[in-house]
Amino acid sequence: PVKVIGLTGGIGSGKTAVSDRFATHGIAVIDADIASREVVEKGEPALNRISEHFGSEALLEDGALNRAYLRKRIFDAPEEKQWLEALLHPLIRDRIIQQINRFSQDPEYKPAYLLLVSPLLLETNQWELVDRILVVDVPREVQLARTTARDNCDPKTIEAIIAAQSPRDFKLERADDIIENTGSLNDLHNAVEKLHNQYNQA
Ligand code: ATP
Repeated sequence: PVKVIGLTGGIGSGKTAVSDRFATHGIAVIDADIASREVVEKGEPALNRISEHFGSEALLEDGALNRAYLRKRIFDAPEEKQWLEALLHPLIRDRIIQQINRFSQDPEYKPAYLLLVSPLLLETNQWELVDRILVVDVPREVQLARTTARDNCDPKTIEAIIAAQSPRDFKLERADDIIENTGSLNDLHNAVEKLHNQYNQA
């Protein structure tokens, strides 16, 4: 079976930049963010559960999830947030497992490993699905500057998101491998190449 490398890091730390580079080497990338959107697409059973629980306002007229409404309902409401996560996290995990299995069983997939990119790898039980934990890490100021530039938004918004995420140390303590993404994109690519060789061998 194929090895699974779990990639995580805070907002704007470089998860996408790292996974894009692994992808250029033919490495499959499973994205937990995509899975988390798929489980609440129109027609998914989770949507019914959400509208039963939060009321019909949780759905837009066309039946899609009303994200803004839901965000408001779980903001400063820990039990509601917990309820939602208890519903969605197992569904997201199942989707991830399905995709891992698909690559594992695909004789056409030749690499020794694949990547699972997840902002909540270590905060959910998704870490149990991976063989190694790779953390992409930057100091807070770099994180803030790059994310603000990328999203063209108020630094205050990003600061609040950083404050709500688990601390750098929490991630670094659990890492098997670390990419220090303070240099250029070229430095980042070199770091990825090194890990790619390592993961392909072991
Ligand atoms: P999010 O958690 O928000 O999805 P992310 O961890 O995927 O973010 P990226 O989007 O990969 O982070 O990187 C954040 C921004 O910083 C992007 O605009 C990216 O192009 C830029 N960036 C990443 N690494 C570097 C680097 N080494 N040098 C310069 N810019 C970088």
